[in-house]
Amino acid sequence: MNIYFHIPFCKSKCKYCAFYSETLPPPADYVEYLLLEMKEILHREKQQVKTVYIGGGTPSALPLPQLRQLISTIVAECSPEEFSIEVNPADVTPELVDALHGVTRISIGAQSFDNNVLDFLGRRHKADDIIRAVELIKSAGFTNFGLDLIAAIPGMTKECWEQSLERAVALSPTHISIYNLSIEEGTPFFKQGVVPIEDDDAMEQLSLAQSVLNVAGYGRYEISNYANPGFECKHNLAVWHGEDYFGIGAGAYSRLGLRRIHNTDNWHEWLSAKQNGNKIPYTEEILSEEEDFNERKFTQWRLLNEGINLQLNSPKKQALLKTLIEQNIIHEIMPETYALTLRGTEIADSVIAAFM
Ligand code: SF4
Repeated sequence: MNIYFHIPFCKSKCKYCAFYSETLPPPADYVEYLLLEMKEILHREKQQVKTVYIGGGTPSALPLPQLRQLISTIVAECSPEEFSIEVNPADVTPELVDALHGVTRISIGAQSFDNNVLDFLGRRHKADDIIRAVELIKSAGFTNFGLDLIAAIPGMTKECWEQSLERAVALSPTHISIYNLSIEEGTPFFKQGVVPIEDDDAMEQLSLAQSVLNVAGYGRYEISNYANPGFECKHNLAVWHGEDYFGIGAGAYSRLGLRRIHNTDNWHEWLSAKQNGNKIPYTEEILSEEEDFNERKFTQWRLLNEGINLQLNSPKKQALLKTLIEQNIIHEIMPETYALTLRGTEIADSVIAAFM
């Protein structure tokens, strides 16, 4: 089984952020209740834990004693095959790295190596912090770490983007994620009227990323994710393959068979339910078998190395497939198994929708 812990706290709010997170110091007993819930799940399910992922928010914003308690208890109780955590470069100190003992994979929110771009995004770290964080992580013996970068940032030149990619590669991470900036309603960027860059320019940046990263030996195994062979994120692959996962914490999602559960986004509600021994407020959707099948199909399209097995009975869909292969949007990677090409990834949503 797979477990995700959500830490919905950040030290400041990024201007593009549409995620639920609070800029509060995390409450003292938040971690204690996360761990209590984990122990209940382990006791109830009696299954080996395959992956654990601590995400946010900003897990590295937890006070060190809490972070240490969270990690050491997870290691002692579950010893997962893969144990990932997200960190902000500004938080990485020798003491924090020491608290990560037992983690097997560190994901660093680099976003850019240009200080002007980082300022524009409202990030609280500088490019030098990324370098320093990687040095500390490496010197503590961690070899499996990833960097996240953001593409399609208004005002960022092609040269600046290329430099960020090259500086990321120079640090030899095992994994690189590339996310496209989108201006979501309710974010500071949206309120400021920040205008997204043209689609063609965004595509050009994503295609540049693919060529720089492929040359450096990273395979694009999912639309937004590249890795050295063997370093693909097992937790995310489990989620994309439709495996069950338990989400623990305010705002966390779980997938349990056909159930999709979303814990209350309100950390205060979550915590007081825990403190009073009540059920956490949550919303739940129960999918039909067909909806579940379609959801799996949708995510399978995003896995570019694996592709999707298509046995099409409809002549209309067969003709569409033939056209998309001729247009180099889809390619056959094994008999009757198809994946998106680089061109296909640029219009992924419409291609996927056509085969749903
Ligand atoms: S660190 Fe992540 S979750 Fe926190 S404000 Fe920035 S983008 Fe949002």
